[in-house]
Amino acid sequence: MAVQGGLLRMDTPGNGHIVDLTEGVISVVRTSGVQRGLVTVFATGSTVAVTTMEYEPGGVHDLQTLLDRLIPAGAEYEHNRLNHDSNAHAHLRAAVIGPSETIPLVEGRLALGTWQQIVLLDFDDRPRQRTVTVQVLS
Ligand code: ZN
Repeated sequence: MAVQGGLLRMDTPGNGHIVDLTEGVISVVRTSGVQRGLVTVFATGSTVAVTTMEYEPGGVHDLQTLLDRLIPAGAEYEHNRLNHDSNAHAHLRAAVIGPSETIPLVEGRLALGTWQQIVLLDFDDRPRQRTVTVQVLS
């Protein structure tokens, strides 16, 4: 198995901000020249996640609202109490969604739907610089 890849770096304001990674991932895949295989997209950090969604303002708003409702920032959490921290909700949201996605690469194209983008979700409660590792396995 051969492994190629690259890094995507970005600044985010945190607080549930969602970034469309699709073009960046496609650019790494193109540079690799690989036609068939698997592409893994992994965000480093315990308050950040990667998933796929339809990236448009309504969908972004609805997902942020759902996560605010399911895992509220202002609730009582042991992580915050024991560590004098404030971002337990961010760790929980990141753990539930997960840090990575694997996308099949077929005929040089990611097997994504027309309305399916790869996104990074930054849940921390402050601005962060994020690194996403993209690997192309063939
Ligand atoms: Zn923390």
